[in-house]
Amino acid sequence: MTSQRARNRLVDLLRDMGIDSEQVLEVIRTIPRHLFVDEALGSRAYENTALPIGYGQTISQPYTVALMTSLLLDSGSMKKVLEIGSGCGYQAAVLSHFSGRVFSVERIKGLFVKTENRLKQLKYTNVRMKYGNGFSGWVANGEYDAILVAAAPVDVPEQLLSQLAIGGRLVIPIGIAGHQKLRLFTRNASGVAEQLIDDVSFVPLLDGVQ
Ligand code: SAH
Repeated sequence: MTSQRARNRLVDLLRDMGIDSEQVLEVIRTIPRHLFVDEALGSRAYENTALPIGYGQTISQPYTVALMTSLLLDSGSMKKVLEIGSGCGYQAAVLSHFSGRVFSVERIKGLFVKTENRLKQLKYTNVRMKYGNGFSGWVANGEYDAILVAAAPVDVPEQLLSQLAIGGRLVIPIGIAGHQKLRLFTRNASGVAEQLIDDVSFVPLLDGVQ
């Protein structure tokens, strides 16, 4: 079901689960999530679940997308946002509604090509993608007001922290499968503050490219 009714139901569920940013809920209501997955899965696109997108990867669960986006929005202005792990581009599309420019890095060539085309077709003109290993971020466009990592390393990559602007926030799942925690790092003039958010389940952040 890809109808407005299915989308409204998803938004109601996210609100019940504690997402209280009406801005984020409205964007989730608007974005056609069914166009980010294979046609055969379209009917499940407005369920609150991760779905396969090929190459052993998944589109993140809507609740997780909403939660991570809300955490970053709390920092105020998001002129420049970096995403590590573009996947199918859904999270980047959500971020594009809140930021001047979104930069997104993907390490799987096939996904990179497909997603870059999809975002162009859907006219997300303020998203730029790069094929590469996101452990090192995207130095050329830094510093960023917000960084979102959509796959889990075992430790926070220092290179990502160093690409945060003062006042900027990094939201990232950390840990091995089954034991991951979502963490929020905020850079301020004197250093970096860390906050534990919740238990989560992400694919691993992998080194190198494929
Ligand atoms: N935000 C995505 C979620 C994708 S799943 C969406 O909305 O669909 C996580 C993605 O991270 C996968 O596509 C995986 O290939 C990618 N990934 C894993 N390790 C990476 C790395 N080191 N650099 C860039 N991308 C990486």
